[in-house]
Amino acid sequence: MSATDPDCIFCRIVNGQIPSRKVYEDDEVLAFHDIHPWAPVHFLMVPKAHIDSLAQVESQHSALLGKMLTLAPRLALQEGCRPYPDGGYRVVVNTGAEGGQEVHHLHVHVMGGPRPWLKG
Ligand code: 5GP
Ligand code: ZN
Repeated sequence: MSATDPDCIFCRIVNGQIPSRKVYEDDEVLAFHDIHPWAPVHFLMVPKAHIDSLAQVESQHSALLGKMLTLAPRLALQEGCRPYPDGGYRVVVNTGAEGGQEVHHLHVHVMGGPRPWLKG
């Protein structure tokens, strides 16, 4: 793991080389709308530092992961998901090829809004 990978599409979004529709940003985390949404609400949350996937996470990342999971409900409502329990959202971390991961920079999908969805 290194802080940034010049060949990584999400590192390039984090550093502004590729534009994105921003949902949230702080010193450690960026959230932005998925370019190919599966659901009426679909955004991604990424650590600003490059981590390949959930498989590389270590105890030093606990606070970061806790922050991302804690942010997910707040940002989901901010982006238009209806509240629990009638509304809600899906939170997904695809990990590795068989887990369906295509971009190898750790990211949390947050999907919600009225069904049907394109996928899922
Ligand atoms: P994965 O399959 O790795 O879990 O999900 C990667 C997600 O990143 C996909 O849903 C895909 O649509 C999204 N994505 C890929 N490239 C870009 C991009 O350049 N900008 C944005 N906003 N999303 C992207
Ligand atoms: Zn990266």
